[in-house]
Amino acid sequence: MRAFELYDATSVSQAVDLLRQHGDRAVKVLGGGSDLVGGMMKDWVHGKGLPFPDVLIDLTTIKELTAIKVDGGSVTVGAAVTLSDVIDNKDIQSRFPVQAAQSVASPLIRNFGTLGGNINQRPRCWFFRGEDFNCYKKGGDFCYAVTGDNRYHAIIGGELCYIVHPSDTATALLALDAKAKITGVGGSRDVAFDSYFIGPREDVLRENVLKPNEFMTHVEIPNPASGTKFGWTKLKDRQVYDFALTSVAAVFTLDGNSWKDGRITLGGVSPVPYRAKVVEDALKGKDIKANVKQAAAQIRTVARPMSLNAYKVDLAQGLIERTILDALGN
Ligand SMILES: Cc1cc2nc3c(=O)[nH]c(=O)nc-3n(C[C@H](O)[C@H](O)[C@H](O)COP(=O)(O)OP(=O)(O)OC[C@H]3O[C@@H](n4cnc5c(N)ncnc54)[C@H](O)[C@@H]3O)c2cc1C
Repeated sequence: MRAFELYDATSVSQAVDLLRQHGDRAVKVLGGGSDLVGGMMKDWVHGKGLPFPDVLIDLTTIKELTAIKVDGGSVTVGAAVTLSDVIDNKDIQSRFPVQAAQSVASPLIRNFGTLGGNINQRPRCWFFRGEDFNCYKKGGDFCYAVTGDNRYHAIIGGELCYIVHPSDTATALLALDAKAKITGVGGSRDVAFDSYFIGPREDVLRENVLKPNEFMTHVEIPNPASGTKFGWTKLKDRQVYDFALTSVAAVFTLDGNSWKDGRITLGGVSPVPYRAKVVEDALKGKDIKANVKQAAAQIRTVARPMSLNAYKVDLAQGLIERTILDALGN
């Protein structure tokens, strides 16, 4: 493995200073390191558009970022909180289910993998991760999934590059209408998850709006309205820990038996966690049980499968229907 410098930041302002100080080098912030060090760096994933990191800034040594805070209207989770601590937190459990976080990887990885690291992890596309493929995401000029084995690739929103977003928590947090708190050399800002993730057309080298000199400090999740229904389903290729072939999060409120308001989001189908507005629109104001089948089928209108992954369209349709019915308790 190539040598790099590691800095244990002790405050957010020190981390920002380090980013400023090393601005002319390849700098990355570090959570648990399960993807950045254990995956990307040890597997030598790099290219013209993806330089090997010279400097890592550890965020897990910043106390403020390892805390979970509750105020009147929301829960704010530090980006360096481990997934296990998210799952075990009583304030979180009393507001929303934690199934999506529980479905990530294995207990060992959840014990040191952080929320910020999970949301900002790089894609698992085997061409991107494979050292023989200089794809768009590494600064190359080809997507090998177009002509190669694309069974796990995008069926919605793939353009240029056909990765799928790998994060289970990102899919669930989009359904919960969460917000990312960002800080960096240019100051701080809040970005709703609706706008946090970006597709390949916007910038094929990144998956989110973070600039190289910025990082996520917290995730803020608004308290759900009373009576909110929640559902989560994740389908994997194998029964041990694995990434989602397709996952669905459903968060919605009811007016009698009808859909009042809410979100349906999908993981494993698109370069970004995908909000299925076509399904939401088909349910708006309507009796859910009577309309769920036809609403779930709307996902077909936005799907553009590749040569080997049309099966995911059927999966997505079936899982949307099942997740909504599960949320209703059926
Ligand atoms: C075998 C295996 C199975 C897995 N299965 C799943 C799965 O089923 N579902 C799933 O969702 N994930 C899965 N993962 C991914 C795993 O959950 C992530 O590797 C982990 O959550 C990343 O957390 P980390 O803190 O170790 O991140 P790191 O490796 O430290 O960082 C990951 C990336 O995020 C960036 N980053 C970290 N923190 C921040 C921050 N605060 N702001 C901005 N950028 C940041 C880093 O620079 C890096 O690019 C799996 C991983 C493995 C190895």
